[in-house]
Amino acid sequence: MSSSIFNPPSSTTALLLRSRHPVLVGPTSLRFLTVRSSSPSSRVLSVAASATEESAMVIDGKAVAKQIREEIAVEVSKMKEAVGVIPGLAVILVGDRKDSATYVRNKKKACESVGINSLEVNLPEDSTEEEVLNYISGYNDDPAVHGILVQLPLPSHMNEQNVLNAVRIEKDVDGFHPLNIGRLAMRGRDPLFVPCTPKGCIELLHRYDISIKGKRAVVIGRSNIVGMPAALLLQREDATVSVVHSRTSNPEEITRQADIIISAVGQPNMVRKSWIKPGAVIIDVGINPVDDPSSSRGYKLVGDVCYEEAIQVASAITPVPGGVGPMTIAMLLQNTLSSAKRIHGFE
Ligand code: NDP
Repeated sequence: MSSSIFNPPSSTTALLLRSRHPVLVGPTSLRFLTVRSSSPSSRVLSVAASATEESAMVIDGKAVAKQIREEIAVEVSKMKEAVGVIPGLAVILVGDRKDSATYVRNKKKACESVGINSLEVNLPEDSTEEEVLNYISGYNDDPAVHGILVQLPLPSHMNEQNVLNAVRIEKDVDGFHPLNIGRLAMRGRDPLFVPCTPKGCIELLHRYDISIKGKRAVVIGRSNIVGMPAALLLQREDATVSVVHSRTSNPEEITRQADIIISAVGQPNMVRKSWIKPGAVIIDVGINPVDDPSSSRGYKLVGDVCYEEAIQVASAITPVPGGVGPMTIAMLLQNTLSSAKRIHGFE
């Protein structure tokens, strides 16, 4: 499902960019921005950007994710018609964490919205690791299941490594199996799956035609699920990559060198204006609740990057919420579809 169709600017698909900073887009679209589609049948694309004289273009992850889900729905029904197979995703949830239950519910809804079958098992907090492994083993052997996802974090009495290693690499739609991560890190090897959140970050850059090759990129955060694979992906796309973490000396100075910043830290508003090179592109993965008495919930979500400051200096930025978040689930659906296609030899 890689992007292959370039839609020429038109009144519905392009916006005049009036940012005072050059945007790192391809040669044909320095002033016009188009949002790519990977579906040849897509004629009208969501307009997913806005820019003003003094502010960065907003990278609209919600609109792009919607477009991707529509593309997936088309592929799912084509596959069903041609080979009678419906992709299936199995989700294993252990314990009763509210945030995990919400993520699982959202994933289930997203599957339904594109026609992917979802199976779910909900195990109590005091389940044994062996019970979880038994479920994984069952799904590994189940031909109706093409993707297996173990919702993290697991209860502390379980060994996460044992559990993730048990998922068959061919069904590892989260991309967390060490073999998939190892292949991602090696030149000349291809992982079967790429972890969904970093994959979503790169997909946003692609869909907005933001060039990566030869650019200086800084990834802030080095977790197994976001920062580290994001850095590997950027390197595979020929960026020159630095990774900033909690022990980095002078993270501000290093970050200021970046043409592309991906931040996955979990610290609200850590990246300030002075950290950002004029014209940089910012992908903010962080989701941080902060007090907000004006909201009925009493809090609001912000990213790692101080948005109000960053839009004054960056050329493009993802908002929080509405940036990377919706892309994560879209990439999970994409991984599940591509798994089903690969298993059944459907092109
Ligand atoms: P982790 O806590 O696993 O990793 C955080 C990383 O940030 C670590 O590598 C840590 O460094 C680094 N870090 C912490 N403090 C600093 C600091 N002051 N300066 C520089 N680096 C620092 O978090 P995740 O990767 O799981 O998640 C990161 C953020 O992304 C969270 O806000 C999370 O909610 C969000 N997220 C969003 C998703 C989405 O779909 N949009 C999906 C997943 C996560 P060290 O390694 O040295 O400890």
